Amino acid sequence: MEKTTQLYEGKAKKVFATADENLVIVSYKDDATAFDGLKKGQIMGKGVVNNRMSNYLCQLLEKHGVPTHYVEELNDRETVVKKVSIVPLEVIIRNISAGSFSKKYGVEEGIVFDEPTLEFSYKNDDLHDPLLNQYHALALKLATKEEIETIKAMAFKVNEVLKAYFLSLGVKLVDFKIEFGRLADGTIILADEISPDTCRFWDAETNEKLDKDRFRRDLGGVEDAYKEMMKRVFGE
Ligand code: ADP
Ligand code: UDP
Repeated sequence: MEKTTQLYEGKAKKVFATADENLVIVSYKDDATAFDGLKKGQIMGKGVVNNRMSNYLCQLLEKHGVPTHYVEELNDRETVVKKVSIVPLEVIIRNISAGSFSKKYGVEEGIVFDEPTLEFSYKNDDLHDPLLNQYHALALKLATKEEIETIKAMAFKVNEVLKAYFLSLGVKLVDFKIEFGRLADGTIILADEISPDTCRFWDAETNEKLDKDRFRRDLGGVEDAYKEMMKRVFGE
C-alpha cells in the first residue's frame, strides 16, 4: 500500500490518499502543539511512540469488540487506516480530575471519580473546540441521536478496556480524548489516535506524569515520558 496525494496536514499527523478509496495512510509527526495551537514545539520520537501505541491499543480494543479504523502498520510512523468521515465531536472521558476540569470547576487535580465522566467538544478550530452537550450536537446536526448513543457506549467501553490495561502496566488512565468516524455505509468506528498526546497517564505509584502535560506545563523530561510509556507497553 502506497501514499498518493496528501489530503490533509494537521497539527500532529498528515493524511494521504491511497489507490483504495476506502483507505488512507496516516503519518505521525514529532510536532507538538498545546493551548489551542499557541504553544508549538517538537518532541523527538513522539510520532513513532504515538503511531505504535495507537495501533497496539486499536488492536486491543478490537479484541474487546470495539470497531476501529486500524488496518495495517506500514512502518514506525505510518499506518493504513479505514477512511472515515470524522464526526466533529471530541469525546473526553475522565476517571480522575485534571486539566480543564479542575480549572473550570475549581477543584484540585487527582480526585478519583466514583463513575467516569463524558463530555463533548465541537471539533472546530475556528470556534476553539467549544464544550457542548448532546442536545447541542443534535441541534447542530453533528450526529444523529442513534450515533450519539453508539458513541457514548463505545467511549465508556474504550475506557473500561484501557483503564484496566494501563493499570496492569502500573499506569493510571486519568482522562483521554477520542474521535469517531463514519464508514461509507454509516457504521460508526473509533478513529484518530490514542497516545500520550491524547491521554493523561500517571504512574500508579508516584503519580509522575507520563504524557503531554510535561510539554504543556514545561515540566522537562518530555521525551523520556513518551519513551517510558513505550517501554511500559512494548517492554522496550
Ligand atoms: P488536527 O486536525 O487536530 O490538527 P491531526 O494532526 O491529528 O489533528 O490530524 C489528523 C486528522 O485526521 C484529524 O483531523 C483527524 O480527525 C483525522 N482522521 C483521523 N483518523 C481518520 C480516518 N480514519 N479517516 C479520515 N480522517 C481521519
Ligand atoms: N485532549 C486532546 N485534545 C484536545 C483536548 C484535550 O487530546 O484538543 C485530551 C487531553 O490530552 C486530556 C483530555 O483530553 O487527556 C482532557 O483534556 P482537558 O479537557 O483537561 O484539556 P486541557 O488540559 O488539554 O486543556
